[in-house]
Formats: sequence, structure tokens, C-alpha cells
Amino acid sequence: MSHPFTEPPPPSALRAKAIETLLVEKGIIAPGAVDELVDLFEHHLGPRNGAKVVARAWSDPDYKARLLENGTEAILELGFSGFQGEYMVVLENTPTVHHVVVCTLCSCYPWPVLGLPPSWYKSAAYRSRVVSEPRAVLSEFGLVIPDDVEVRVYDSNNEIRYLVLPQRPAGTDGWDETALAELVTRDSMIGTGVCKFPPVTRR
Ligand code: FE
Repeated sequence: MSHPFTEPPPPSALRAKAIETLLVEKGIIAPGAVDELVDLFEHHLGPRNGAKVVARAWSDPDYKARLLENGTEAILELGFSGFQGEYMVVLENTPTVHHVVVCTLCSCYPWPVLGLPPSWYKSAAYRSRVVSEPRAVLSEFGLVIPDDVEVRVYDSNNEIRYLVLPQRPAGTDGWDETALAELVTRDSMIGTGVCKFPPVTRR
């Protein structure tokens, strides 16, 4: 009978560790480099960054204008930039237009603001179907778009990465950016979801 403390690590973990050790021994990477990369992806790249951008846009009309005008520069104002975020375009959702983002060719995704893409984003089914039948795909995500709202699908290319600026939930007047950011979900910034709604109206 196996026990969690005596069970050996899975083969993939052993293989990764062996490769890391070899790369360090051969002087190809510095000791700790892999840990730093993992830390980067776990704690510094991720949808919380995008949520801060969205919350700032909701709170500051001038920032929002800059964000829609030049996404890359405005996102850099908050300190987010780099690989897979060199050319950012922000798409504003409104009561009449809903944007959803895909990469039909592969899995292009704005790493600095959203981190690594979820597996469904990379799936052949999502990539092909969201273009041909976006409303059906969105409804499978639990998102029913009313008929009078236009759905626009944006296909990432080898240059542009998109970030959806979701609609600000009602009942959040006067909320500060930190509280607002907590309502912003990853999927709301891809367009396959909406923000969380506040459980209670703050006074
Ligand atoms: Fe791609």
C-alpha cells in the first residue's frame, strides 16, 4: 500500500530534476535559475496583473483612454511588459459589444498580464469553433450573450496580443482598485467569462 511520504516522485518530476541538474553541472544555467523561472510564472506573471490593469481603467478615465489608445504603453505604466506582451491591444466590452479572443493558429496569449494560457485556450476545438460559432462556445462557458449584443472574435497573430476590458459590475461605485481587481476573472479578460458580481452592495 502506498503512502504519500514514501511514494517516489512521478517520472516527469524526476526527469525534470535530472535535466536541471545536468544543465547546472554543465554550466548552461545558473543554480536556482529554474526556481526563479517557476517563481516568475507562479507569482509575477498571471491574471492578477491583468486584473490590476482593468481595475485601474475602471477607476481612472484618463488611464482608460490611454489604455485603449496604446495598450502596450498603458500596461507598462503599471510595470507589466515583456515577452508575449510587446504589442498589446485592449478591447473594451460595452453593453452592446462583447469581445472574445482566440489564437486560431496556435496559442498566442498575453503572458505579462494573463500568465500562461489555460489548456482549453490551446485546444483545437476552442480555436476552430469560437470563430465559427462564438455564441454556442460562450454558452458552453456559461456565458449567454443576448441577441442584441454583438459578439466580435479577435484572432491573435504573430504580433498582437489582446486583452479584453470587461464591463465593470454594477454595485461597485466607490470601490477602490484593490477591491475592484478581486472581481476581475481571467476568463473575463479573454472574453469567455464576465467579472464576479459583488455579493453585497458596499455603503
Ligand atoms: Fe498563437
